[in-house]
Amino acid sequence: MRASCAKFVDNVVLPYIKQNWQLEWSMKPEGRLPDEILVGADQIGIRTLGVPAEFGGIELDKGSEVKTFALISEEIARGDSGLADKLVQNWKVSVLLRNLAPKHLAEKWFKRLVEDPQFLLAHCLTEPSGASDRWLPYDVPEAAMRTKAVRTKGGWIINGRKQFISNGYDAGLYVVYATSQPGVGMTKGTSSFLVPRDTEGLTVARCNETLGCRFMNNGELVFEDMFVPDDHLLVEGTALAKAGVYFRPGKIIQAAKNLGVGVRCLEVTSDYVNTYVQGGRILIKHQAVALRIAEMATKIEAVRALVERAAQAVDDNAADADALCNMAKYYASEEILKVATHAVELHGGNGMMLDFGVEKLFRDAAIFPHMDGTVDISKFKIVKALYPATAGKYAGREE
Ligand SMILES: Cc1cc2nc3c(=O)[nH]c(=O)nc-3n(C[C@H](O)[C@H](O)[C@H](O)COP(=O)(O)OP(=O)(O)OC[C@H]3O[C@@H](n4cnc5c(N)ncnc54)[C@H](O)[C@@H]3O)c2cc1C
Repeated sequence: MRASCAKFVDNVVLPYIKQNWQLEWSMKPEGRLPDEILVGADQIGIRTLGVPAEFGGIELDKGSEVKTFALISEEIARGDSGLADKLVQNWKVSVLLRNLAPKHLAEKWFKRLVEDPQFLLAHCLTEPSGASDRWLPYDVPEAAMRTKAVRTKGGWIINGRKQFISNGYDAGLYVVYATSQPGVGMTKGTSSFLVPRDTEGLTVARCNETLGCRFMNNGELVFEDMFVPDDHLLVEGTALAKAGVYFRPGKIIQAAKNLGVGVRCLEVTSDYVNTYVQGGRILIKHQAVALRIAEMATKIEAVRALVERAAQAVDDNAADADALCNMAKYYASEEILKVATHAVELHGGNGMMLDFGVEKLFRDAAIFPHMDGTVDISKFKIVKALYPATAGKYAGREE
């Protein structure tokens, strides 16, 4: 699988990005990434990972599923981390659906996903009121989601909005979280729903123009008196706790995508310092340059080791899996950003030129600290997991 992904990245993705770098800046999201790229991902069998074989997906060995997700995410992100974002949302939401969706709906949506290479899934938690309270979680009534679901005859009426959603602009199916029981705290009063794109009352309000990962269209959604039938309820009340099946592999995948960006930084920088001459010698023969390269390579290997260890812990359902996932996610985001800084610095002025292509890696790397929880919130979660009795309270009323 790794070899076919590498071939796809080297022969299709990287040449496309190189030749079409201006398209990254097109303010028309529809045309940024051509359909053929997702068709290519489909042809090498990586688009429908996470979908059970009985529904036509590619089912991975459960004992190493998350490790395999990591390996493929890294490889695809080496080509383009926005493309990787697009694909991994499908895997992550598929895992959620296979665990939580009623069989007839799983069958319906997996069929759509398998049949249509352009079909995308999205997972909608974040709201304008902020996401950190959810990650902690800060379990008091006033921090509950503003998006509300009210029971009605035969289903639910949902009102509210979601922001910063990966694939939010393009997805065919959304998993939406909403407060269904106000006043009890988000861990007990949040429900999750399946919302097809054509649901009346759902508006895709806009595509966010992001700094990096620009080939994934991040979107904002508004729900106005949106009716969803009873069978579209995934989890009532305890949706945040049940989403663990999504978050754990999700953080490994984030870290692995981040690693892929770092690997590409080293690849292009290695080529540059072994060919470009200053001071009468190729750059790598200058000691200051060599030290930076050594640091880049070491950081990449350190991140890889932690990602592999954390992925194994998730596959084994180990007791320390939660802490390790957060460690891998935040550590990768900080270390790979330093790797990307070395990459642009060693390219000198070329490192800042859009058409040269190296600055894109820096921008892509800069996105990761905030994805799936900020660095600080991830650290809080690690300390909480390690010292549950003594860890501080990280949110509360102003005193
Ligand atoms: C490219 C991209 C893709 C994304 N995709 C998705 C998606 O698919 N689905 C989705 O639901 N969300 C998505 N998000 C949202 C992402 O999860 C959030 O941006 C992230 O969790 C941070 O939340 P926030 O932006 O609301 O920041 P806030 O929660 O408002 O935090 C702002 C700052 O305050 C700090 N802070 C907050 N609370 C505390 C505290 N108690 N103590 C100390 N410091 C604190 C934070 O660390 C941060 O520095 C995406 C974001 C990006 C950038």
